Amino acid sequence: MAERFGARLGRRANGQKVGWVMGKDKAERPDWDTYFMNIARVVATRGNCARRKVAALLVKDQQIISTGYNGTPRGVKNCCEGGCPRCRSEAPSGTDLQDCICSHAEENAITQAAYHGIAVRGGTLYCTLSPCLICAKMIINSGIVEVVFENAYEFSRQTKTLLMEAGVYCRQLRRR
Ligand SMILES: [Zn+2]
Ligand SMILES: [Zn+2]
Ligand SMILES: [Zn+2]
Repeated sequence: MAERFGARLGRRANGQKVGWVMGKDKAERPDWDTYFMNIARVVATRGNCARRKVAALLVKDQQIISTGYNGTPRGVKNCCEGGCPRCRSEAPSGTDLQDCICSHAEENAITQAAYHGIAVRGGTLYCTLSPCLICAKMIINSGIVEVVFENAYEFSRQTKTLLMEAGVYCRQLRRR
């Protein structure tokens, strides 16, 4: 039965192959880390910050419980449409951060869970970029126990040390 289903999805009526095909051409099955990071990359495409697109994914028991991408808060003009004066300015990357109104992806993944009343305690956070100091504090106090990041942009020694001291396990997943 499953094979017939796969065959139907794999070919158009005219015999042309489409999408994923089961059976002989079985696609390689990704491991959990790759699977979640691939999804995080898709989530990042929804980011509305003019500076960069970042995403975070909250996972518990190998299931996604929340997602977040970076951008201006709910109800506020999108950053890419000029919503954040700091992001629109010429301020070099990493400066004038106190004036930035964009929420970070990790922050949004945690607050989205809060919005729906979902506990994040004991969860793993997958992020396309290593967290900043402020997000690290939120990660610690929300009870997240593991951070898996792809790119280590400005992952300061202070942030790393803080997460380690608080018992949050951090590891980098390199792109394959
Ligand atoms: Zn922005
Ligand atoms: Zn901004
Ligand atoms: Zn942050």
